[in-house]
Amino acid sequence: MTNHHAQSCIRVDSRWKAILVLAAVSLMAFPLWLDQALGKNQMSGFVVIDPGHGGIDPGTRSSNGIDEKTIVLAVAKDMVPLLKRDHIKFILTRDRDKYVSLIRRVQIANRPGDRLLLSIHCDYFKEHGMEGFTVLYAQGASHDSHVAAHLIAAGLIHEGFTCHEVRMDTRGLEVLDKSKCPAVLVELGFISDPHDVRYLTSKSGRHRLAAGLVRGLAMFLHKTQ
Ligand SMILES: [Zn+2]
Repeated sequence: MTNHHAQSCIRVDSRWKAILVLAAVSLMAFPLWLDQALGKNQMSGFVVIDPGHGGIDPGTRSSNGIDEKTIVLAVAKDMVPLLKRDHIKFILTRDRDKYVSLIRRVQIANRPGDRLLLSIHCDYFKEHGMEGFTVLYAQGASHDSHVAAHLIAAGLIHEGFTCHEVRMDTRGLEVLDKSKCPAVLVELGFISDPHDVRYLTSKSGRHRLAAGLVRGLAMFLHKTQ
């Protein structure tokens, strides 16, 4: 009896051991299954669209009283159907009027496999005479950041916008400096300039900005895939 009991204990023990080993192996293999189930491509390769400012942070303001935060969000939203049309995977750092910290924006862009951070802003200059869009990349930026900056500029020029500058940022902008993936910041135009304000605050102007940005993005993704 004692002997039989001992034997059955051993049997149960080894069965449990087998179950535990199986469970451990399954858990270790789980991420692999998840990757395969979702497809590696579906988990990476995103473009992060970052409309600047938001919520308590309005950015600059146009002479006709429209905030930078409103303009850049409208352009980002206009980009959405075009991104979908071109099968570009994207994430918006905000899709409504809410405050998002710079650190949070960078965190979103630093997920493994993100392809590009595109931050959207408007410029301001106290005197008249400055017009057109500017594309910035970080000091010491990667080759891909340079490529992205020039192709996005090309996309906007194609839509008929004036290029003010494509250049290195000298202000140490956090979203550019801390981003691990290629990153560019586009100032869509000078909110202080009467000509630029017309396109920045009109529906058709913002549509064309969105089209130019997506055209540039598509060229960048095609070139660096
Ligand atoms: Zn701004």
